[in-house]
Amino acid sequence: MYKIKHSATLTAMLLTICASAQTTYLHCGKLIDCTDNRLKTEMTIVVEGTRIAAVQKGYAKAPAGTAVIDLRSKTVMPGLMDMHVHLEGEISPKSYEEKFRLNPSDVAYQAEVFGKKTLLAGFTTVRDLGGTGVNVSLRNAINAGLVDGPRIFTCEKSIATTGGHADPTNGVRKDMMGDPGPAEGVINSPEEAWEAVRQRYKNGADLIKITATGGVLSVAASGMNPQFREEEIAAVVAAAKDYGMTVAAHCHGEEGMFRAVKMGVTSIEHGTFMTDEIMDLMKKNGTYYVPTISAGRFVAEKSKQEGYFPAVVAMKAAMIGPQIQATFTKAYKAGVKIAFGTDAGVSQHGENAWEFVFMTEGGMSPMEAIQSSTVTSAALIGKSTDLGTIEKGKLADIVAVDGNPLEDIKAMLKVKFVMKEGKVYKNE
Ligand SMILES: [Zn+2]
Repeated sequence: MYKIKHSATLTAMLLTICASAQTTYLHCGKLIDCTDNRLKTEMTIVVEGTRIAAVQKGYAKAPAGTAVIDLRSKTVMPGLMDMHVHLEGEISPKSYEEKFRLNPSDVAYQAEVFGKKTLLAGFTTVRDLGGTGVNVSLRNAINAGLVDGPRIFTCEKSIATTGGHADPTNGVRKDMMGDPGPAEGVINSPEEAWEAVRQRYKNGADLIKITATGGVLSVAASGMNPQFREEEIAAVVAAAKDYGMTVAAHCHGEEGMFRAVKMGVTSIEHGTFMTDEIMDLMKKNGTYYVPTISAGRFVAEKSKQEGYFPAVVAMKAAMIGPQIQATFTKAYKAGVKIAFGTDAGVSQHGENAWEFVFMTEGGMSPMEAIQSSTVTSAALIGKSTDLGTIEKGKLADIVAVDGNPLEDIKAMLKVKFVMKEGKVYKNE
């Protein structure tokens, strides 16, 4: 008797769920679904609840009572994906003092704003490659529907070595410097690498980031030097694998980059002084390249502005920043897999789509640049089943722009429609 009653309740519940799964028809003038290289015209996407139920030729007539969204004057694409952002902040001349002033709650409020800007620019999924842990809370709040923002895959804190890029106490006066360790994401041995990865897992990270070479924005002499030993990178990669996590490696200089690729990281970030030998090894190992041309150009530009950066940072920015676009061109011609990434937070949030412009300037076709931000990025994070194309069964992450980005890539700068998991966030 109890069983019957129970299953009746269950049926009623299921009926309620089905009835609330809203159906929407999207009439698309032009469609780049990223399942192939073709631009399709006059298509209908049927969205049911959070997923795509069908993609049909022509403007299908919606059943009575079904919502129809008119995108006949637009080009429709899968939700864009940025594989390198930092949602907790945005670089300005004030950045170096802010870490002494801002509480985590201050960081959280600004992170929410940056997340929303990113989503409304058409980026429905991002990898957050380094912050203080607010990025984990933001991800959770977005997933819970408390605030609007992109779907976030986060590394929580980057893992560095002592004095390395992402050692949180670089440039701090000695009595405040302390001695950060694996809990804070600073390691100096393979054993500590395991501890730091496990701590990231415990803190809620989705993936691991290491700073395999020096970096531009840290208050430290070199942006180029190798900062991990091979056995330390190997330990990070092995530990991450145990927890089902990938490893992103920040790299500018050749030696640290070579070690990272050799030891099996998933992606190289920036990759500024990438050599032919490294590109060959990346192709052999299937390593992704996330160029972040936007950040390179941004810091190069700001390095000319007196007082924008501390002197040691300005010097590195002027040297490293302008190189990235040329490296992108070389890697593209060599056939390295390229996923879209801006380093927004260095460059400005919501301006992510400029990377499309820079990538096509660097030799990619507009279609390839769009694919790098959709199918290729989905593959990088291991989410090809759910994301990256517009086809039946995928999550309904859909964006649209005025005009045709295949003819003028700057159309990507004007995203007019944003849907994430079936919910509309923008429709102009
Ligand atoms: Zn970064």
